Amino acid sequence: MKYISLIGATGSIGQQTLDVLGNNPEAFCLVAVAAGRNISAVRTLLANFTPELICVQEASDAAQLASEYPDHTFVSGSEGLRAVATYEKAEVLVNAVVGSVGLEPTLAAIAAKKTIALANKETLVTAGHLVMAAAREHDVAILPVDSEHAAIYQCLQGEQTKNIAKLVLTASGGSFRDRTRAELADVTVAEALNHPNWSMGAKITIDSATMMNKGLEVIEAHWLFDIAYDDIEVLMHRESIIHSMVEFCDTSVMAQLGTPDMRMPIQYALTYPDRLPLQGAKRLSLAEAGQLHFGPADFERYPCLALAYRAGREKGTLPTVMNAANEAAVALFLADKITFLDIEKLIAMAMDEHQTIPHPDLETIANIDQQTRQRVQVLAEQLQN
Ligand code: MG
Repeated sequence: MKYISLIGATGSIGQQTLDVLGNNPEAFCLVAVAAGRNISAVRTLLANFTPELICVQEASDAAQLASEYPDHTFVSGSEGLRAVATYEKAEVLVNAVVGSVGLEPTLAAIAAKKTIALANKETLVTAGHLVMAAAREHDVAILPVDSEHAAIYQCLQGEQTKNIAKLVLTASGGSFRDRTRAELADVTVAEALNHPNWSMGAKITIDSATMMNKGLEVIEAHWLFDIAYDDIEVLMHRESIIHSMVEFCDTSVMAQLGTPDMRMPIQYALTYPDRLPLQGAKRLSLAEAGQLHFGPADFERYPCLALAYRAGREKGTLPTVMNAANEAAVALFLADKITFLDIEKLIAMAMDEHQTIPHPDLETIANIDQQTRQRVQVLAEQLQN
């Protein structure tokens, strides 16, 4: 029996994590969980699981739930989030929150020696140098939940880093992959949220459409696998069947394949190095797929990908600026305040005016993150005028 704590329980990855846990009650026990403001989802969760500690965002919601469920302990806010991330009984923390808010609980859980199943890519993007150093210091494993990184992790079993020639991250191209740049000018939020292959949350689905998601994943791969940006390639692959690949120094290429189902990388991070059958999953039939398609990544069609390589290579605070600007811009797009193409414009503007600070500490990262979000609001208003 493995004891699990989960933060970001009501999001897409969180819900699919609960599905994996619920399907394997003999293997996993959910002991602590954090959700945001979706209280009805917390009530549904408590009908199926018996976590000892539950965190919600608002203190008033925690008090309300405590009166309904006297057998559980409820906490709230960032302190509550940290309590769930470091809950003593838990061996593994599944970090499924969206955005840079996932950073602090990750560092706290590493210091408490929890194994980290990491779906929160913004954590490594903004503070990869701090997170990986802390993981080494406390001898903690960071197991990737992102499908591409889980694929690479599987391809690297029994291999040595020194023999890697390059990592190849596959990209579906997102919801607008068949449109030209000119056709992107007036796309709607609903169109952007319609991903061809994967069922995911709103923020990551927009990130897939801009390819910022792949850019964040390039930076994530750099930190997780300690590979230079020149040796990380993005390959367009519209079927999302090859989840990523590793090329070795002898030209041998290892790939991991499967049907697009996020529960597979989630479950693998929880069972690693063991595996369990994945309930209700569709098996891959290459005969049925017939053909797989590949092409080079187009940095002019997807400027966010170029911005991410630039931020990753420069390091310091620039990835934080890029990530915070992206989070703020995507939120504005989802609220119908800016156009789809304004997202990349705002990120580039925020990056262009930033003076990069090398080797930032946690406080500097948090400050730059906040400043960038505020700056993007101002820049967005300027764009409208
Ligand atoms: Mg991914």
